[in-house]
Amino acid sequence: MRSGKLSHRLTAVLEYIPDGSVFADIGSDHAYLPCYAVRSGKARAAIAGEVAEGPLHSAKKQVERQGLQEKISVRKGDGLEVISPAEVECITIAGMGGTLIKKILTEGREKLRGVKRLILQPNVNAECVRGWLLENGWQLVAEQILEEDGQIYEILVAEPGEPLEPYRGKNRDAALLLGPYLMEEKSEAFRKKWRNEVKRWKRILKHLQSASDSPENRRKKAEFERKIQLVEEVLHDETS
Ligand code: SAM
Repeated sequence: MRSGKLSHRLTAVLEYIPDGSVFADIGSDHAYLPCYAVRSGKARAAIAGEVAEGPLHSAKKQVERQGLQEKISVRKGDGLEVISPAEVECITIAGMGGTLIKKILTEGREKLRGVKRLILQPNVNAECVRGWLLENGWQLVAEQILEEDGQIYEILVAEPGEPLEPYRGKNRDAALLLGPYLMEEKSEAFRKKWRNEVKRWKRILKHLQSASDSPENRRKKAEFERKIQLVEEVLHDETS
């Protein structure tokens, strides 16, 4: 948060925090998001959760520096263990892999009762986060994709609801991989991300084709071929 400004990525996350809410930011590192949200009046109060000592220390320092100790509670702990049931109405988890986000949500499932919104920003493997939401009664209500400093980020916003709703009338596998809203919108960042992924998968496929014909390699090849086909159908072959 150089010169008091949030990154584009965290600003996009911030915009989905319900006005005047109390939220928990899990994996908060420097607590930039809670500090900005509370200082700007977007949130009433926040909890910054951190599992690692170094980032926890940075979060505490940041909150003290900004004089926000009354409104932001910095807590050490693994995932959602830092919050009590019904303590927050919104949870943000940003800047981690999708597998870790899924693990945090699964292990903290009990703490999700009373939570009205999840704002999740997986750096990779958003597919597994969408899969978790679908299986656990959370309806994706919005998605955003953006590029910052050469990286492309996806933001998933979910609320308790009918999880199948955004997937109706769509190829489910494609929508889980690409995002049911993002694949409709097909923004420039979306096209760039998936064109690059398809190029990368095709390179890997080439290596696998010249590698030994083991069952494991056959499984991997089939998986890459399946994903390439799903993406190309959505991008209408602009990747080939
Ligand atoms: N959320 C910030 C952002 O988006 O800029 C920081 C992202 S940083 C890359 C990920 C942070 O999550 C690290 O500080 C790490 O220590 C923390 N973290 C990883 N696993 C965690 C867990 N299970 N519970 C709480 N924090 C965790």
